Amino acid sequence: MPKKAIIIGAGIGGLSTAIAIQKKGWNVSVFDRTSSLTEAGAGIVLAANAMKALVKLGVAKDVVSIGAAVGKAEIRTWNGELILDLPTSRQAKRYGSQSFLIHRGKLQSILLEKVEEASIVKLNKQLASVEQNNDKVIATFTDGSKEEGDILIGADGLHSIVREQLFGTLQTRYSGYTALRGICSFKDERYTMEQGGGFEAWGPGKRFGFSQLGQGQVFWFAAINAPRGETISSNDRKQVALNHFNRWFEPIQTVIAATVDGDILHHDIVDYEPLPYWSKGRITLLGDAAHPMLPNLGQGGAQAMEDALVLARCLAEPHINVNLPSSLQEYEKIRKQRTTKIVQQSRRMGRMVQLENQLAITVRNSLLRHVPNKILIERLNWIVGHKV
Ligand SMILES: Cc1cc2nc3c(=O)[nH]c(=O)nc-3n(C[C@H](O)[C@H](O)[C@H](O)COP(=O)(O)OP(=O)(O)OC[C@H]3O[C@@H](n4cnc5c(N)ncnc54)[C@H](O)[C@@H]3O)c2cc1C
Repeated sequence: MPKKAIIIGAGIGGLSTAIAIQKKGWNVSVFDRTSSLTEAGAGIVLAANAMKALVKLGVAKDVVSIGAAVGKAEIRTWNGELILDLPTSRQAKRYGSQSFLIHRGKLQSILLEKVEEASIVKLNKQLASVEQNNDKVIATFTDGSKEEGDILIGADGLHSIVREQLFGTLQTRYSGYTALRGICSFKDERYTMEQGGGFEAWGPGKRFGFSQLGQGQVFWFAAINAPRGETISSNDRKQVALNHFNRWFEPIQTVIAATVDGDILHHDIVDYEPLPYWSKGRITLLGDAAHPMLPNLGQGGAQAMEDALVLARCLAEPHINVNLPSSLQEYEKIRKQRTTKIVQQSRRMGRMVQLENQLAITVRNSLLRHVPNKILIERLNWIVGHKV
């Protein structure tokens, strides 16, 4: 009798897990509280390690055909002076793949199509609680329905209910900055669609990034030092972004201005202290639920995919009788050290890029201008060159 996994969350982590463990022969049911799996206004970078994971999941070709390869990756000051021009083709050679940018909703659709029988993904299903005994795990949803399985995987994101059920309520750590993100149609001869990629501009306590997204669109984000919890109504976000980046080099103002009013996402950027454990009995965590990280290295999605592949490897073929809690412990043991290091590195990176002090900024920029490409490439190899 095939074993059954219940997956809570149909984000990048949950869908990747469904694909990976279905390949092992497991039955899978995925539940998500949303009514549709698209997120307006956001792109996602898929670094080389994410692309290698997508190859294993069998969807890399679809991502390549819809997304945009990152050909150009510059870092500039707020007024446009070049700090670094990252050697993207040498990086791709060293890391084993180019990076791509893709619309997050499109990535989810690609993953969803790869799940055998899309009907196993059930929407409008919000998890309320989980319980387990020696033989099974039971998920209860807010509509009162229940689902039984052999294991349960909490891929329910940053504010995971599964995590809360296992380990209680934990406090988020505010990064000190808030993010605005948008997508628009935009053309610029300096940053062409054919070349792909774009730039990040760093000013005191603020950063703006822009990258080709494919299909004639660009994705931008802004990270702004700010007190925690300030709300900006969706109709004011464009003007707030224009004000923050007033006098920054072009095309920053033009890109923001080209974004549809009301279509800009706003989130305070937070993570959690790394958890000592991810699993209890037949239940484990994956992706942001297990290791929420600041987005400064663009690795959250990539790490969720790596988790999915390792978890599938740790789960034996469903007809083999093994101790499932031990398989979940093994997955956690393999993944925890790497993801904890990336959580910490993302925090350090954030402190470096969101500096406010002018002297510190000058020192940082001049140090970065003198780092040889070879060292830049090698420093990231343990993260981006990784292959599960
Ligand atoms: C500003 C920003 C920029 C980022 N940029 C990048 C990037 O460029 N590259 C990258 O790799 N990563 C990036 N990330 C990180 C990345 O988005 C996340 O790490 C990734 O989406 C995590 O996937 P996940 O599946 O674990 O969680 P999520 O994508 O959060 O999915 C969780 C799912 O669970 C569902 N859910 C939640 N609670 C319940 C419940 N109670 N019941 C049922 N369903 C539930 C949600 O609806 C959601 O669909 C960025 C993050 C931010 C905030």
